[in-house]
Amino acid sequence: MRHAQGFDLHRAMGRPPGRRARGGLLGCLILASAGCLAAAPADGTVGEIIVSDCPTAGKLPVTFQIDCLHVADVAAQRLCRPFLENTACKVFPAYRSMTAINLEETCPSIKYTIYDRQSWPHRGGEAGGLTLKCAVEYLVDYSVKMTSQIGPYDVHELLHVYHSVLGALPSPHVLFGPSMTEAARKIGDVKGYDVRLAQMKEEVRTFEERFARAAARSPAIKCRLAQGQMEATLYLENSQSVYAFYRKVARSRNPSQADRDARFNRMYNIVSGGKARQFLIDHGCAPF
Ligand SMILES: [Zn+2]
Repeated sequence: MRHAQGFDLHRAMGRPPGRRARGGLLGCLILASAGCLAAAPADGTVGEIIVSDCPTAGKLPVTFQIDCLHVADVAAQRLCRPFLENTACKVFPAYRSMTAINLEETCPSIKYTIYDRQSWPHRGGEAGGLTLKCAVEYLVDYSVKMTSQIGPYDVHELLHVYHSVLGALPSPHVLFGPSMTEAARKIGDVKGYDVRLAQMKEEVRTFEERFARAAARSPAIKCRLAQGQMEATLYLENSQSVYAFYRKVARSRNPSQADRDARFNRMYNIVSGGKARQFLIDHGCAPF
């Protein structure tokens, strides 16, 4: 499924999240936590910004941090604080109620590091963002310079952090369509919600032809496409479905693709009241 923010380092790099060199990034973060504070300017516009309290939500169970030291443009630097405040005070609670996941149990703090394209430390593809456990690295164009009626925010990489709690996933962006759409609605980005909803309706409408083309090229992706269609269809029928997805899916670290698919397919079947099973099997999923 395409995303309105249009980035995907996981896919561009051809490997799932968490499979890249862990030592490099974790090592960098340890250095950064000391180095960035020391380098922070007195006016507080560029250096690390921390949000742990919100105007309405009060004290957050997770502390959010952003490092914009790798951003040269002053106007973009000024967007770092609203980006972090929107993400921490609006998106984080929206996903918390949607997923029923207490993220502080895995990530007591989440750190964003924003980069200009020139300073981006990762290679490959049209990448824009990368999540590794409790850290997010983002290109400036896909993060603080993202525009909406409520200002910039992140609903994509933070969802990867939430999803790490679910265990092994059938595909890196399973549940992303309905979850990001519902998040846009909950945080008051009405226009963003409308765009995502229209895109989802169009994808559902054109599914069979897209499925036939893709299945002819790559039979292995049939079940993934069917899962995407199922979750979008259920969300369009009833937006409360996305809350049920997270409450009904079994969590497991079993790495086999068969187990990942079966866990999610059972969940779709429960949420659909038994309607999903035949559709999924007819569209390339193994019996479950
Ligand atoms: Zn992603």
